[in-house]
Amino acid sequence: MRDTLKALEELQKVDLQIAELVKGGSENPRRLAELESQLGAGRAAVETDREKLADLEKQKKSVEDLLASDKDKVKKWEARLTEQRSPREYTALAREIDIAKKQNTTASDEIVELAKQAETARDALETRESDFSESQTGLVDEMKSLRAAMEVQDAARKVLDEKRAEAAKAVPAQTLKRYEQIVKRRSSVIVPVVSGACNGCHMNLPPQLNNQLRTNARIDVCPSCSRMIYSPEAFEKAEEN
Ligand SMILES: [Zn+2]
Repeated sequence: MRDTLKALEELQKVDLQIAELVKGGSENPRRLAELESQLGAGRAAVETDREKLADLEKQKKSVEDLLASDKDKVKKWEARLTEQRSPREYTALAREIDIAKKQNTTASDEIVELAKQAETARDALETRESDFSESQTGLVDEMKSLRAAMEVQDAARKVLDEKRAEAAKAVPAQTLKRYEQIVKRRSSVIVPVVSGACNGCHMNLPPQLNNQLRTNARIDVCPSCSRMIYSPEAFEKAEEN
């Protein structure tokens, strides 16, 4: 029975170490995901600004191309103007030329406006890029150290898992089964009885149970919390005999 108690206490010790380790690293995956999403958002913002600039440049280019071909058209029409035989045809073509020239002026204005917008977009992109590259360094550094910490924790966890398997081997099968059930709900499974009370839930034990535990070195169940309980005095006495 003393060996079982020792084995249970060893198992519990390892489980508490595992719980501590898990608790210490529990924020890491969440923080890592947060940093990844910040990095992604930063990248996406730069990409959006880049697309906006590209769009404006494309628009400007298409207006410029159209204007160039319209200017050619006007030149050809002007050349043809002298060939017009009738005053009516002349007037009609002159009118067409006039309309086309007005449209070209509007297109020129539009190009100037688009150039201004592109300039603004280019400045915004530059600012965005430099902000991003600055914050990126910090984010990437933090991610690196988080990943390193997680690796250390994983390694420590591996060692503890092996230790746990070893400790579990020393516990009799039935007792281990009960231990595994309790440990799912409680951080401590095996607790001493102190001054007649369970040291897990601090409820007083029925006097009869308390007496039995004090006179017999054995492991029982706390009626209040179902933890495994034992009386240290009884085990000390048993050791002396
Ligand atoms: Zn209890």
